[in-house]
Amino acid sequence: AFTADVVPQAPEDPLFGLMAAYRKDTNEKKVDLGIGAYRDDNAKPWVLPVVKEADDLLRKDPDLNHEYLPIGGLVAFNQASQKLILGKDSAAIKDQRVVSLQTVSGTGAVHLGSAFIAKFYTPKTAEAKAIYISSPSWANHNQIIDNVHLPVKTYPYFSKETKGLDFDGMINGLESAPEGSVILLHACAHNPTGVDPTREQWTKIAEVMKQKKHFPFFDCAYQGFASGSLSTDAWAINHFVDQGFELMIAQSYAKNFGLYGERAGCFHFVAAPAGNAQDTVARVGSQLAILQRSEISNPPAYGARIASLILNDEKLFAQWEEDLRTMSGRIKSMRKALKSHLDQLGTPGKWDHIMEQIGMFSFTGLNEQQVGRLRSEFHVYMTKNGRISMAGLNRGNVEYFAKSMDEVVR
Ligand code: PMP
Repeated sequence: AFTADVVPQAPEDPLFGLMAAYRKDTNEKKVDLGIGAYRDDNAKPWVLPVVKEADDLLRKDPDLNHEYLPIGGLVAFNQASQKLILGKDSAAIKDQRVVSLQTVSGTGAVHLGSAFIAKFYTPKTAEAKAIYISSPSWANHNQIIDNVHLPVKTYPYFSKETKGLDFDGMINGLESAPEGSVILLHACAHNPTGVDPTREQWTKIAEVMKQKKHFPFFDCAYQGFASGSLSTDAWAINHFVDQGFELMIAQSYAKNFGLYGERAGCFHFVAAPAGNAQDTVARVGSQLAILQRSEISNPPAYGARIASLILNDEKLFAQWEEDLRTMSGRIKSMRKALKSHLDQLGTPGKWDHIMEQIGMFSFTGLNEQQVGRLRSEFHVYMTKNGRISMAGLNRGNVEYFAKSMDEVVR
């Protein structure tokens, strides 16, 4: 029954294919700039010291067992996650307008939100039932939304000329989307471009979305990892909440805790302050629980336990903030180093965007052919769109990478 015309061979996931090719390369100069995970100055995975400490504490707990978590996950984790993303003194939390479920990391949270939209969202016109993503966006957004049978539409985001935000294009895109569309926004450290709106631009984006009655869906995969400050990186979300939007948030702890494989994340639905918000979150929460139960029954426990321990302990929390500054600081220093090597080499082109972009990634502007040459001649691995993971650079390879880049650009 499953012949090739029914089930065609799917292409390999480009990122995972890239990783496999990198592993096979035996050249000692090889550089992995595809990886979407933090690396230390020795190009090694980094277990955050605070995570190591929480892990040790957990393992010493004689009562630790492997029972199921509730459908919605670990309650202490969900509550701490709300406070982290919305702020300790959030009016939305005080008013009990937030319902949160622990998810299979950020991917699971984006999926849960998308599944909820697919099942329950009833905008005035059928054409508004779609999810708008930025062009470009994290590639998986397409598949996650498509999997729940919702149309994926796009709004302009990146300007190839300035290698910054195409702000006018974005505003036009939001204005021309049918009223009441679902708009997926990257809360900070936009993947893949590293380009974020300024606060002034966010304010305007919120105004337009309010006029058009759009529904915001924030994907927050880098809180604290981007700027080094947890509240700075959550600014856009909190601005929208303050403006009285009803919205959803997908929160990942993969990058900011380095808990990638443990799959710790959280989904939040925030009801608007008007109307009977508590009733809304109760109903929405009951349906989210059914979606969750039918798909994963209950979320994985260990990573959430680690995160929860840290989030709910003042001392560990402060230590975590220190670790976040270590990661974001190292990445910022690599941006500086790369830019100054390119300056010294007099590499043709303008490279200020490397300093202006934020977070794990930088959209270099290198084209597919240049990316191909970097890989075949210089053993430097990155995605075809010219995105580099800043975390793959370190004091040992940044000069080599700058020189390789210089050669393929000339
Ligand atoms: N959204 C964006 C924009 C991301 O970059 C990522 C991580 N690559 C995720 C969501 C989710 O990742 P995870 O499922 O590992 O939390």
